[in-house]
Amino acid sequence: MKKFTMYFTNALIALLLSVSIPGYGQTKKLPNVVILATGGTIAGAGTSSTGSSYTSGQVKIEAMIDAVPNIRSLANLRGEQLANVGSQDMNVKVWLDLANRINELLKSKDVDGVVITHGTDTQEETAFFLNLVVKSDKPVVLTGSMRPSTALSADGPLNMYNAVAIAASPLAKGYGVMVLMNDDIHSAHDVKKMITTPVQTFQSPLEGLLGTCIFGEVEFFHKPFGRHTVDSEFSVEGVKELPRVDIVYTCADVSTDLIDIMVKAGAKGIVIAGVGDGNMNAGTLEAAKRATKAGVPVVRASRVPVGAVLIKGEIVDADYGTVSSAELNPQKARILLMLALLKKDRSREDLQRLYIEY
Ligand code: ASP
Repeated sequence: MKKFTMYFTNALIALLLSVSIPGYGQTKKLPNVVILATGGTIAGAGTSSTGSSYTSGQVKIEAMIDAVPNIRSLANLRGEQLANVGSQDMNVKVWLDLANRINELLKSKDVDGVVITHGTDTQEETAFFLNLVVKSDKPVVLTGSMRPSTALSADGPLNMYNAVAIAASPLAKGYGVMVLMNDDIHSAHDVKKMITTPVQTFQSPLEGLLGTCIFGEVEFFHKPFGRHTVDSEFSVEGVKELPRVDIVYTCADVSTDLIDIMVKAGAKGIVIAGVGDGNMNAGTLEAAKRATKAGVPVVRASRVPVGAVLIKGEIVDADYGTVSSAELNPQKARILLMLALLKKDRSREDLQRLYIEY
């Protein structure tokens, strides 16, 4: 009887400890992570596991979570389906919905991190947009896949597992919005899709990887570049749409009337995907000057995937009223300009400051 009482007392102490000390015994308290699904190849399905043809955005989030072994051992998970599109169809409305929902979720002390499943074609754009308008230092991680869910060696399940591990990790606080693909953690500022179809397509060629996550083991190498999230001056609270900003892709002998056509069609800002160091032919440069004089800002980025555009290079921005995109590629430079133009009458100098700081 004495022995039984001793066992009983020990069991009771163990139970009380496991409830009151996190990590003691079996019942460790898991972080709470919400997965917001938007579609993409990670939710894609094809008719053959070895064929290259498939359709994006076919599988719903609950089925995607259930397909990842052990993912529920990382966090208490909840999924929400915000959209189910190939990210070539991503748009400002979904961006605003995502930003508002993430800000709402992360305000709650019951949510520790957010994962977004997203197509890879425009993933870097959504990541950069959110990096500027999410108002929390809790982890926000985008992930996707290059192979559809039905493919042999689909990369989606492990990407999702690792993304949840990052969102659940206390180490990941304060890194801004991240992209997890193929074991690599990228900052939203730096990440680029560099190759059309293989799993190693995402790279951060200028600033380098933020870290890695290998079978759920998170490691960071350095802090991200630029202002973001809680340190960002941008907000989309109450915003229903963003100003139209168009991109002009340049090449040898590019048509010189493109900027005028875009401005006439209603563009409030223009980004040039210039050649080399943000250069363009003489006619396009004159059109850029005309646009800036008429109050339509023109930002010079480059079609070259890696490198900064110099403020004083072959083109000196002050001579044409233009602005350099610094390290941002044309598609991210466009997002910064769309957000910047929510505030009226920004000077050229103020716009240039934004490209230097963000
Ligand atoms: N077109 C697809 C998308 O962006 C490609 C992918 O997800 O990898 O949704």
